[in-house]
Amino acid sequence: MSTIAGNIARIRSGLPAGVTLLAVSKFHPVEALREAYDAGQRVFGENRVQELLAKQPLLPPDIEWHFIGSLQTNKVKHIAPFIHTIQSIDSLTLLKEVDRQAARCNRALRILLEIHIAAETSKHGFSPDECRTLLRHGRADACPHVCIGGLMGMATFTDNMEQVRQEFCSLRTLFDELKPIAGDAFDTLSMGMSGDYPVAIEEGSTFIRVGTAIFGERII
Ligand SMILES: *Cc1c(COP(=O)(O)O)cnc(C)c1O
Repeated sequence: MSTIAGNIARIRSGLPAGVTLLAVSKFHPVEALREAYDAGQRVFGENRVQELLAKQPLLPPDIEWHFIGSLQTNKVKHIAPFIHTIQSIDSLTLLKEVDRQAARCNRALRILLEIHIAAETSKHGFSPDECRTLLRHGRADACPHVCIGGLMGMATFTDNMEQVRQEFCSLRTLFDELKPIAGDAFDTLSMGMSGDYPVAIEEGSTFIRVGTAIFGERII
């Protein structure tokens, strides 16, 4: 078994039912993604449009691609035809552009709303209040080609696991609060990466985004 296959098997064996593993393949070559695919992995995440566009045609069509990076509005059109979910929607402008491009492709595009839960201001996302406003006032309904599948968040990059746990807990609480008003498709709480996914799962994550623990360190 390759290291990648072994890593995937080890991570999977520890996951409770109902938690999806996203393989974050950014900066890794197509051969590495192919190894993961051959090990049964079908859900992959990338964070740069150019890199995703280069890799996607070289890999099997049954891969479910998730976009997890900061996304410029003028690049949405490139990924709209094939992307499964855009996890990093952090503004109403971006949401509207996704709706426009999804309409042009004659499809409904699944998105997650990114919520800012970390202490670092460099991280992106709606504040919990902005997110409440967006869903309560039905502004998302004005985007009929967008399907809001849930929330995504990144915890602070720190060794303090109590802080990380509290941030995940606050995201989970927001998710539970919004679920009744957000519609049937709202079923995904994307939180947890290589360094913190066990804590994220304890706090209710349904979707973990793991790069380094599958593919090794990124060479940037
Ligand atoms: C890179 C990245 C990950 C994966 O990070 P690892 O620490 O390598 O597991 C998860 N989520 C987002 C949004 C990322 O950009």
